[in-house]
Amino acid sequence: MTPAARHFWLPVADDSHGYGLTRHAFPGRRADAGSAEPAHCGEVFALATPSEMDWICAPTCRTCNETLKAGHPG
Ligand SMILES: [Zn+2]
Repeated sequence: MTPAARHFWLPVADDSHGYGLTRHAFPGRRADAGSAEPAHCGEVFALATPSEMDWICAPTCRTCNETLKAGHPG
């Protein structure tokens, strides 16, 4: 059995990493998310549909990654 997804990664507009987009982790499922959601790192981002290039180029948010690894989201 595959456990239900508890979070999803999405490149969102965030110029803190240079490229202009950063991949953050958001709680829940993409299909259930609204137009803006708080990421696991604590910041709220507007959700858009990223292009394939965005997925390739956007760096991963280290804070989101570490929060998920630590098992204490939020
Ligand atoms: Zn983040």
